[in-house]
Amino acid sequence: MHNNDTTESLAAGIRSHDRAVIGRALTLVESNRRDHRRRAQELLTAILPSTGGSHRIGITGVPGVGKSTFIEAFGLRLINGGHRVAVLAVDPSSSLSKGSILGDKTRMEELSRSDDAFIRPSPSSGSLGGVARKTRESILVCEAAGYDMVLVETVGVGQSETTVADMVDFFLVLKLAGAGDELQGIKRGILELADLIAINKADGDNRPAAERARAEFESALHILRPATEDQWMPRVVTSSAVTGDGLDTIHEIIVDHHTLMKGNGQLDTTRRQQALHWMWSLVDEGLMTSVREHPGVIELINRLEGDVVGGRTTATVAAEEILGAFGAGE
Ligand code: GDP
Repeated sequence: MHNNDTTESLAAGIRSHDRAVIGRALTLVESNRRDHRRRAQELLTAILPSTGGSHRIGITGVPGVGKSTFIEAFGLRLINGGHRVAVLAVDPSSSLSKGSILGDKTRMEELSRSDDAFIRPSPSSGSLGGVARKTRESILVCEAAGYDMVLVETVGVGQSETTVADMVDFFLVLKLAGAGDELQGIKRGILELADLIAINKADGDNRPAAERARAEFESALHILRPATEDQWMPRVVTSSAVTGDGLDTIHEIIVDHHTLMKGNGQLDTTRRQQALHWMWSLVDEGLMTSVREHPGVIELINRLEGDVVGGRTTATVAAEEILGAFGAGE
């Protein structure tokens, strides 16, 4: 960030698609510094009227399923169709270690050279909640900068998929055929989150297996999520970034979904609910930090943790003591 950046200059730069300014705005949004947080909120408030205009699409899948290859091929197609594409990432591993599952800068080389694409690696942070907050705010910056397709990539680790599903309009799950018994490997939760499952790498010798997997997933989805009127029925397709098969269909499905959800008011409802969840999760996080940093609590923590681990006190009694010290006990 430049020191002479003001809220107005950043907002103007974002609106005029100035890539350098967009990058600096994202850096500001990603910062943990207290003064940066305040400035970021000023900026987000200033650009808020220009946000909300994109299709927000979450994409997940295990490492190696072909996410970056898919996003590159899909993103280039979207750009050819006149869209502007932002790619953000939520990498849960970045909070655990320096290494990351998604962070490799050489990914999506061709897409990253396009003027109509903006690719941002996952912010690193102490917690998934921190990464999620930054990514949500980055989505707003990208929308104000005129990106009408925002792709948020993540991996199927821990809570990250639920977290991303809760910040997007449409959730795409990439799967591989032949990765063991198809349905045993899939978590029920993912079937519930997915708006679309794509059996990826459906090319060459892999095609028949991919088609079989597609049929299996489709029947599983029908059992789990029976069709109701006016509701989106999750779809299952095969795709290949290598041959390009399925990519146009996926785009059509995303457009259909958007049209349906806009028409029946669910897009608005979902986004409002997401904003409320977000507010409360920020309150949760803020409270947790305040509790842990409270001087009276800090004095107690070691002893109480030791007592709980050592079986000398119950978790309930210890929690009450901590909340009491914080001034929030009964
Ligand atoms: P990610 O870890 O999910 O981002 O996966 P990558 O996009 O890095 O792909 C992992 C490997 O699968 C790479 O060697 C790709 O070349 C290969 N791959 C990706 N997409 C396809 C595809 O559609 N078909 C085939 N046959 N290979 C693919």
